Amino acid sequence: MAILRVPIQCYRCNGSVNPGAAMLVDQKMKRYQCYACYQKQQPRWRMGKEETKVKENYFCGRCKYKFKALAPRCPYCSSSDHLSRAEFSMDDLL
Ligand SMILES: [Zn+2]
Ligand SMILES: [Zn+2]
Repeated sequence: MAILRVPIQCYRCNGSVNPGAAMLVDQKMKRYQCYACYQKQQPRWRMGKEETKVKENYFCGRCKYKFKALAPRCPYCSSSDHLSRAEFSMDDLL
């Protein structure tokens, strides 16, 4: 039983790659990468877990002002001295 096994050349490290382990990275150029190079090239999937910045609820005791912001700083007095984290509850809506 003859299986056609043409070694594929990794265009990054120029090493011959088992077709089963090669990644087609460029369909038009017919470029293949070995798995090792492919992984090296894809650090993004780890970094993709980016911290999403969530606005927090704050309450400035000095201004008696509740606001949502990324940074703990009152937009009125631009100070963080009197800030506390506030949770908006149903009571606030009434
Ligand atoms: Zn390679
Ligand atoms: Zn304030």
